[in-house]
Amino acid sequence: MKIHEYQAKEILERYGVRIQRGIVLEDGPDFAEQVAQAFDHWGGKQAVVKAQIHAGGRGKGGGVKFCTSKKATLEAASNMMGMMLVTHQTGPEGQKVRKVMICEALDLAKEHYIGIALDRERCCPVLMVCAEGGVEIETIAVERPEALLKLPIDPIMGLQPHQARRAAFFLGLEGAQLKQAVPFLMGLSKAYLELDCEIAEINPLVITDEGDVVALDAKINLDSNALFRHKAEAAMRDENEEDPKEVEASKFELNYIALNGSIGCMVNGAGLAMATMDTIKSHGADPANFLDVGGSASEQAITEAFRIIVSDEQVRGILVNIFGGIMKCDVIARGVINAAKNLELSVPLVVRLEGTNVDEGRRLLQESGLDITPASSLDEGARLICEAVAALA
Ligand code: GDP
Ligand code: MG
Repeated sequence: MKIHEYQAKEILERYGVRIQRGIVLEDGPDFAEQVAQAFDHWGGKQAVVKAQIHAGGRGKGGGVKFCTSKKATLEAASNMMGMMLVTHQTGPEGQKVRKVMICEALDLAKEHYIGIALDRERCCPVLMVCAEGGVEIETIAVERPEALLKLPIDPIMGLQPHQARRAAFFLGLEGAQLKQAVPFLMGLSKAYLELDCEIAEINPLVITDEGDVVALDAKINLDSNALFRHKAEAAMRDENEEDPKEVEASKFELNYIALNGSIGCMVNGAGLAMATMDTIKSHGADPANFLDVGGSASEQAITEAFRIIVSDEQVRGILVNIFGGIMKCDVIARGVINAAKNLELSVPLVVRLEGTNVDEGRRLLQESGLDITPASSLDEGARLICEAVAALA
């Protein structure tokens, strides 16, 4: 689960990480008044206005503005509020700005990068450190790996003080800054491990003109599967930032992933979803989404799943590919029939069922009187739906 910059900063501050402070504002009748107060709160000389959306690269897209007067701050904040902010992480239509943060403006001497992410090859979190901040770390990792220090973190012991010192040395810090950087890095690591983060990134970490080590930006992604043990962080979810269909699906414990093609896919299990998408691609089309109904969805959840897939305007055809193990084929069939009847389905539908209660499932589909094309294998199902969609074009 992604959270906003201001929420990530709240978390890090709890762990003793020094952050650039800010006041978060939503739109309302007294928005301008609140912006003016926030500007005064930070000394009345300068402030940074920062759009709060679940995407990085805001600076380049116009979502971070350094302002040196109250008038400029008001202007930047009111322009930003409600805008569709486009960054390299948002997609071409951008993301709507519903909150802005008015931050204290800091004078920067240096900008660095630090982040912790899970290294799937080493099977542990890794602290990544780069002297160049505000950069795209993915590019550096590929083009100049020597500019990046990677230190594996023991998941039980956490980051060790000697590792934190090594990271600080790598950034060229010494003296008072080294002293500040060590607890800063230890705090970041502690937050990462305790809160089951997938990513915790500070880009940039800055050294101010006064010589302080400060997190100017913060990005944290939490492991959604671990949120049940982090109630406070779970409450940070902002559904406004998510695909509405994914939110809808999660209410029924369904896993919906939006993609860019034309074929809606209902499957059970992530592995079967991957295989289904690959097979569709090998038949020359692209999936519009996939909806994983999991192992034990009810008839009602299947009906909802179908409704969600159909509500995607990109969908020109639907492939249902279910391997019934714990999930029973007759339950799937009933859900599909309910949904197809209620929704007056107008796109071709191919269904491949296999496994538990398959005969009952197939019989229900056949006797439903609906225009459903049965398939006896994944390959056949994918071919049939691709052909049906191509024939419509
Ligand atoms: P991002 O573009 O979404 O990663 O947003 P950031 O919070 O990282 O801000 C983008 C850039 O704005 C930073 O890399 C800084 O260069 C600049 N910036 C943000 N706050 C300040 C500040 O207080 N002082 C100065 N001088 N620059 C800032
Ligand atoms: Mg940043």
